[in-house]
Amino acid sequence: MPELPEVETVVRDLRGLVVDAEITGVRVSWLKTLRSQDPDAFARAVVGRTIIGTSRRAKLVVLDLDDGQAITIHLKMTGQLFVVSSGVMEDPYIRLILSFADGRELWFRDIRKFGRVGVARRDGPAGDLRGELGGDKGFKGFGPEPLDAAFTARVFRKGIRGRKGRLKPLLLDQGFLAGVGNIYADEALWAARLHPLRSASTLRPADEGRLYREIRRILAEAVERRGSSIDDYTAPEGDGSMQEQLKVYQRAGEPCFRCGRPIRRIVVGARSTHFCSWCQRLPARDKPGAAAILRGMEPRTGAAPVIRTGPRWTEIGGGDGSLGTPTGSTRRAAGSQASRAERTKRAAATRRAAARAATGARPDTARSDGRPVEPGRAS
Ligand SMILES: [Zn+2]
Repeated sequence: MPELPEVETVVRDLRGLVVDAEITGVRVSWLKTLRSQDPDAFARAVVGRTIIGTSRRAKLVVLDLDDGQAITIHLKMTGQLFVVSSGVMEDPYIRLILSFADGRELWFRDIRKFGRVGVARRDGPAGDLRGELGGDKGFKGFGPEPLDAAFTARVFRKGIRGRKGRLKPLLLDQGFLAGVGNIYADEALWAARLHPLRSASTLRPADEGRLYREIRRILAEAVERRGSSIDDYTAPEGDGSMQEQLKVYQRAGEPCFRCGRPIRRIVVGARSTHFCSWCQRLPARDKPGAAAILRGMEPRTGAAPVIRTGPRWTEIGGGDGSLGTPTGSTRRAAGSQASRAERTKRAAATRRAAARAATGARPDTARSDGRPVEPGRAS
């Protein structure tokens, strides 16, 4: 799912494409894409308006209109935005189209249909957003923007002290910090050498300082690299390259870049969590509470990942009654797992390339060849 750096990249790319465009029409082909689920109300709000700026709040793309209102777009898992000339053939995943007076169109393409588009109001030119999003709490429910100058170490300390939860869910909490998601939470915790299941209340001032600095450093680098083009994320001007710099995310079983021990994967609050159990130690007082989660840890032992894939030899048999040998099937299973991961990456790159080709946008330059994400890094 696109996080702060990915959404920021989309916002910056859009700026050169949609600022000064006058909206002349709206077409909604999936009703739930609209927060209001009311296409007429949405059209009344935006048709005839001119886009005067693009910005980001948390993981939302914000298109400011000339009447003080703003269109908000949450890309969620698979949302993509493209600006195309009219007459380009649509594919079935275009959920919403804004037509511009100059003949171009802004397409919201969203395979999984979780993305949401709404209308909000600004309090003054640089004021807060309020309105349609999230009911009464609205945009005020978002925590500070981690890359803002106003987000100082002191603000971070104040925010984290008194928090009782574990670090991973805390970093994903948009009310604590806006825009951080699964990828950058894992990366920041690894860089700061803090266990994802550690409770925030056990942090010492030095830990807090490290975590604050690493969150900002990693997010800033990811913005610089146009985000991580994992799964379906791409931006109007093309893919990002941060996926090549990730140290733990989706590297379960591969060696830690600091200590060489295998990166572990656990599930915390239904989210995959990647960490090094050697570099990111869990304090004794957090261990009892974390035991149940850590029991599901993969891989469990040793430097070589033991990946359970395909049928075990004891489960083969059926048909012709033959049984594979345990060693042979383990080796084959490991091989097929690697290629499956690669196939998944290739499929995502192909989907992004197809989306780009379908919309006539600039060809996907770097990542459409299905290369593994980190060539030569596991040395
Ligand atoms: Zn390590």
